[in-house]
Amino acid sequence: MLTIALSKGRILDQTLPLLEKAGISIPKSELESRKLILDTNIADIKVIVLRASDVPVFVQHGAADFGVAGKDVLMEHGADGVFELLDLEISKCKLMVAAEKNKNLNKSTLKVATKYVKSAKEYFYQQGKQIEVIKLYGAMELAPIVGLSDCIVDLVDTGNTLKANNLVPLELIHEISSRLIVNSAAFNTKHAEISDWIQKIEQSI
Ligand code: AMP
Repeated sequence: MLTIALSKGRILDQTLPLLEKAGISIPKSELESRKLILDTNIADIKVIVLRASDVPVFVQHGAADFGVAGKDVLMEHGADGVFELLDLEISKCKLMVAAEKNKNLNKSTLKVATKYVKSAKEYFYQQGKQIEVIKLYGAMELAPIVGLSDCIVDLVDTGNTLKANNLVPLELIHEISSRLIVNSAAFNTKHAEISDWIQKIEQSI
């Protein structure tokens, strides 16, 4: 039995065609159900649908053999116990610092609002800048507008969300895309089976 962990939304939508090309498809009735463990066309492959940040956790602990997670999520998780095997080149965007235009960011301690606490801390530490992190779970763009922070660290795709909130992208922290990860123990114990699927998925990218 192989279990693949996917996250709801963009990653699920963009991973399904890749899996299908590789020979793994999920019947529409399964996708439309409220089930969290979905059957596929292959009897011994199941798909579990999780919150994005839970995907590396399930794979790390072996509750899923494979997972598809954004590089942003993997950087925050630390990716202990998982191998990052393939860049699937989907759900591409950029992890960026953004702020109001002409905002003075040369302060002794910058207030940074973000969901990406670890990545933000590492980035500003490398820049030699001291920061105070304000952890938010969404609507980061609001923080500088209401004076909660000096800047934000968030994902930027088209840049429309920043523009709509009078923010400008300033610094690139990391290019982001979805990665295929595998539990490191499963990679050894189920090597033949796993390698076979990796090859098929790689060919579908
Ligand atoms: P955009 O307006 O196209 O720049 O998209 C920015 C908004 O979408 C922000 O709220 C981001 O958190 C979110 N976003 C953009 N790209 C992604 C992605 N690949 N995965 C998850 N969220 C994203």
